[in-house]
Amino acid sequence: MTPQEWIEESKDKLLSELKEFLTFPSISVQPAHRGDLRKAAEWLQQKLVSLGFRVEMLGDPPVVHGFYQGPSGSPTALFYGHYDVQPPEPLEEWESPPFEPKVTEKAIYARGASDDKGQVFMHLAAWRFYVERRGGIPLSLHVVIEGEEETGSKVLSEILQREGARWRSDVVIVSDTAFFDEDIPTLTVGLRGLLYTEIRVRGPKRDLHSGSLGGIVENPAIALAYILANLKGPDGRVKIPGFYESVRPPSAEEVAAWRQLPANETYYLGITGAPALAGEVGFSPIERVSIRPTLDVNGMWSGYTGPGSKTIIPAEAGAKVSMRLVPEQEPMKIWEAYKDFILSLAPAGVEVSVSQLHEPTPAFETSTNSPFYKAAEEAIARTFGKRPIPLREGGSIPILNAFRQALGGVPVILMGFGLLSDKVHSPNEHFRLSQLWRGIEALIQWYSLVSKPSSLLAE
Ligand SMILES: [Zn+2]
Repeated sequence: MTPQEWIEESKDKLLSELKEFLTFPSISVQPAHRGDLRKAAEWLQQKLVSLGFRVEMLGDPPVVHGFYQGPSGSPTALFYGHYDVQPPEPLEEWESPPFEPKVTEKAIYARGASDDKGQVFMHLAAWRFYVERRGGIPLSLHVVIEGEEETGSKVLSEILQREGARWRSDVVIVSDTAFFDEDIPTLTVGLRGLLYTEIRVRGPKRDLHSGSLGGIVENPAIALAYILANLKGPDGRVKIPGFYESVRPPSAEEVAAWRQLPANETYYLGITGAPALAGEVGFSPIERVSIRPTLDVNGMWSGYTGPGSKTIIPAEAGAKVSMRLVPEQEPMKIWEAYKDFILSLAPAGVEVSVSQLHEPTPAFETSTNSPFYKAAEEAIARTFGKRPIPLREGGSIPILNAFRQALGGVPVILMGFGLLSDKVHSPNEHFRLSQLWRGIEALIQWYSLVSKPSSLLAE
C-alpha cells in the first residue's frame, strides 16, 4: 500500500483524531487554562505510546518527550512542535466556536488548526503510516512537543540546558511555518527574532475629575500616545537610535527567489484586508515582511472605554509593543536602546516604566546545503509537483536557537505546510485539507529519504 493510498483510506479516522486534539483550549498565556494544557499533553502522550514511543512528561506545562528506537545504524531526527495556542479573542468574530473544530469541503477550522496542532498531527500521521504499514518508523526519533511556544518556551529552555545533550540528533525537523501559496511551495530558511515589551505611564494617584482638576496635570493617555507616535517616522522607519545598524541587504540568491513569487501589492492586500499597504519606504512588501526589522503596538489601554461618557483624566495608560528582529540585530542591545529611547520621550509630569514580557529571541537562519534540507526539497517536489523556493519568514520560533545550542549546531529543517491565508493568531484560523493530506505524504517521503543517509550524502 502506497502512502497515498493509506492517506486516502485513513482520512475520516485522521480527521476525527485531529478534531479531538483541537478541542483542548490549550491557551498558554491564560493561567485558567493550565489544566487544558496538561490534557492536551496527555493526549499526545497517549498517541505516542500507542506508536511505540517511550514517553516522559517534563515540567509544567509539560514538555512531552518521546523516544523511538529505529533500526540500528539509522540516523536520529528530533521533531519539535507545540500544543499550546494563542487566545481566540475576539470570540464574536469566529464563524464557528474556536474549540469546536469544524470541517468544511476545503479546510478544518479551529484555534490551532494550522499553528501548530494541525502540523504536529501531520507528523503523528506520518509515523502512524510507518508503524501500521511498514513495520516501524525507519529511523530513531526524539519527539519534543511543548506547551509554551506562544509565551517564550521557559520550561523547555531550562530542560534543554539541563539535559538537551541527551537528545543528540542528526537533524531537527519543525513544521510550524507556511507555504507562500498553495501552488507555490516554499521552504523556510530564516525567521525573525522577537522582543516583546510593555510600557506603563502613571500620572495622578487615581482617575481625576477632568473638569474641576483638568488643566493642571499631564494626561497619561496623551503622554503614551506621544511616546508611541514618536517610535516611527513618516517614512515607516523605526527611530530607536542604532536600530538598523549592521542590518545587511538581501543576498543575490534571495532576490532571485523572490522574483519567482507573485508577492505584489494585490497579493498582500488580499491577505490583510487592509485599505492600503504601508511600511518602510524603499523596500518591497516581501522585504518588509521578511528581511527588515519591524516595530508594532500590539495593544493599548487607558481610562474609560465603556458606553457613554465619563469625564476623567485617567491615572494610568499602557501599551504592549513588540519588535521583529533580523539576524544582525542583537536582542539585548536593541532592548537597551529601546528602553533608553522610550524614557527619553517621556513628558514631564508622568512616570514611565518599560519591561519585557517575553524571552528575547534572536533571529534564526538555516543552511540550504545539508542533505536533510535537500531531502525536504525532494520530498516536497515529489508530492506537490514543484521544487520549493527557499524563503525567509517574518514570524519567530523562539526555541530554535536553544535547540541548536543544546544539540551542537545541528541542521534545522523548517518544513511547514500552513498557508499565509490560514488566519493564524486571528479569528477563524483554519488549515487547508489539501495541505494536510499532501503534507502528510511529503513528511512520509522526508522520513524515508533521511533514513538512508548514505544515499543522501552520496549526492
Ligand atoms: Zn506556532
